Amino acid sequence: MKDILFLEGKFQEKIWGGNKLKTIYGFDIPSEKTGEYWAISDMDEMSSTILNGSYKAKSLQEVYRDDRELFGNPKSQTFPLLVKIIDASDDLSIQVHPDDKMAKELEDSRGKTECWYILNEDVSSIIYGLKVDSKQEAIKLIDQRRWKDLLKEVKTHKGDFFLVKAGTVHAIKKGSLILEIQQASDITYRLYDYDRKDKFGKLRELHLEKSKQAIKILPNNQNIDLIKDGNLTMRILTDNEYFKVIEKTINSSYDFSKEIPYSLFAVIEGSGDISVNDKAYKLNKGDFFILTTKVNEYKIEGDLTLVESIAKD
Ligand code: ZN
Repeated sequence: MKDILFLEGKFQEKIWGGNKLKTIYGFDIPSEKTGEYWAISDMDEMSSTILNGSYKAKSLQEVYRDDRELFGNPKSQTFPLLVKIIDASDDLSIQVHPDDKMAKELEDSRGKTECWYILNEDVSSIIYGLKVDSKQEAIKLIDQRRWKDLLKEVKTHKGDFFLVKAGTVHAIKKGSLILEIQQASDITYRLYDYDRKDKFGKLRELHLEKSKQAIKILPNNQNIDLIKDGNLTMRILTDNEYFKVIEKTINSSYDFSKEIPYSLFAVIEGSGDISVNDKAYKLNKGDFFILTTKVNEYKIEGDLTLVESIAKD
């Protein structure tokens, strides 16, 4: 049975982490400073584990490597996306990620374009891009450490969506709970860390030169299309060169047909059932699963919201 793969992810403790992964999603977190849940990942020791079917207890890394057909025989040798939940009980550093070209040259890695689907119930904020419109101006302000004049802060509400293209200066701020979908890469350049000191009285390392090189001034014109069809409401959150992300809200029941090789799902709200190939499975908030090439049609029943991510390579 290889049509639907339910996944169990891995946690990362962070100095800025919290306990919402337990209080909101019921996960068995390692401590009250749990910052990240890597829900869908094939990245080495952070790889997710399959919970059901023929591949039960295997890692997503093994399955993606050994059963390529399940994913439509993709070009990519490693799983292209990483899906996380991030719980920030403090501000994260101001950072920027390189694009594919720079990451290949400097780090022999993919670049990192990511996106954020906001889960926090209370209003929070993020740093999203810059107040200036030329790179020269940005570098001048960085050198003068005029962070307030440089960084653009944006309020966030539940269900908001932000595409963070490689080169965009960004930061997650205190009180944020975020579903992050990103190119599978772990390359981050830290631009500014509020001059915070660690428990040894030391400042965290910055990567100023690489940050300046990576920064791009990009327009953030986001256009979210809304599509309604009977009991289904869809918001097309992004459709870029790396991934497509769709919010699907189902009201009582909906029959889907699937034309793409595989896709990733996160259950954001509500509960219900999914039926694939005449078998039904329970869905609850905080569940993550992949529908493989073995699924052509599926039915979802209940009142629930899912976020679907589709890789482009
Ligand atoms: Zn980032």
